[in-house]
Amino acid sequence: MKTKIGILSMGCPRNLVDSESILGRLNLKGYQIVDMHRADVAVVNTCAFIDEAKRESIDTIMDLVELKRQKKLRKIIVYGCLPQRYKDNLRKNLPEIDAFVGRVSLNHNSQNYSLSPKHYAYLKICEGCINNCSFCVIPKIKGKFASLDIETVLKKLRQFNKDRVSEVNIIGQDISGYGLDLYGELELPRLLKKIIKEARDIGWIRLLYLYPSRISDELLWLIRDEPKICKYIDLPVQHINERILKLMHRDTSKGDCLRLIDKIRKTIPGVALRTSIIAGFPTETDREFKELLRFLEDARFERLGAFIYSREEGTPAYNFKNQIPRRIGLERFNAIMSLQQKISAGINKKFLGSILDVLIDEKQGGSTYLGRTQYDAPEVDGMVYVNSKRKLKPGDFVKVKIHDTLEYDLTGEVIL
Ligand code: SF4
Repeated sequence: MKTKIGILSMGCPRNLVDSESILGRLNLKGYQIVDMHRADVAVVNTCAFIDEAKRESIDTIMDLVELKRQKKLRKIIVYGCLPQRYKDNLRKNLPEIDAFVGRVSLNHNSQNYSLSPKHYAYLKICEGCINNCSFCVIPKIKGKFASLDIETVLKKLRQFNKDRVSEVNIIGQDISGYGLDLYGELELPRLLKKIIKEARDIGWIRLLYLYPSRISDELLWLIRDEPKICKYIDLPVQHINERILKLMHRDTSKGDCLRLIDKIRKTIPGVALRTSIIAGFPTETDREFKELLRFLEDARFERLGAFIYSREEGTPAYNFKNQIPRRIGLERFNAIMSLQQKISAGINKKFLGSILDVLIDEKQGGSTYLGRTQYDAPEVDGMVYVNSKRKLKPGDFVKVKIHDTLEYDLTGEVIL
């Protein structure tokens, strides 16, 4: 009788790809992959990059420990970022756990066991990070930056093409550095051209996690000129004040960011810009925070994610004086999110009456479906509520006439 394995994948899409690789290997070894409630052995691939994520991982592990106490599970294996950071501590405090496995060296020869919905997929092209932001523990957790060679990336892409995946999201900690380690220069445009050639049956190619200082004109022209590439640029800036950017060890200046945003908008009209912002970074003054808010008001990002600064041991920022109290961090986070809500509602209004290509993600009920435009990445951005007289299925691309707009979402009707 095959041992039944269930997995819980926490954190970001990069972790999801690791979980898919872990399952791919276990499947190859003859284990049966099942839903957690039918599992003998539970695998949890954890996230540990900020406090919130660590708490969520620990809570999940404790739920599994309870199931083991009730003899509903035989073994628990904890993978990923949490054991990579705290293995000894965890081993001491969680004797119920059968194994702790830190960083997983990915086996790119075994076929991943897909955990995302069948119609979209994540293609991880590099591991680790080339940058060293002072607040970030990821380079320590994920190790040295390592690009996958072009042929290995294309092999995975061909599999997605064969599986008729509608959307492929290209990810890494920072994909703009792709190739620098392996080929001695930035090779994302060259890789993308090869991907486009092979992606005959794939509708959308989306780029996630581009570092501002490595976005070349060639890359922007490719995104502009290739119909398959979503007009969507994910550009984490984190802050805009010169002094804070230096303290964050970001190798971009305020001027660089403003010029880049202007160039992107001029080069790719109608592009959706996504960014990430940190609220309450150590020593941030009221005046510097107001400067950040003014910048967000002017830049009008179509999509934005914000985080309250999390003081992470092992990072340079951990030892900075004048750490901002959590209460202030939360106030600033809320101010950013309520400003963004207004900006997003205003931006969405421009779509009223327009016809957009929408990728159907799921049926919501009756004749209503949930989908996304090319301006919405899976799981983090807005949705389109689609009404359709004809039956649709996940992965279908349809033309939708927008007849209402909300803060983050749109509603519309399929035009036949
Ligand atoms: S680029 Fe992102 S992953 Fe890399 S060090 Fe900076 S914040 Fe961390």
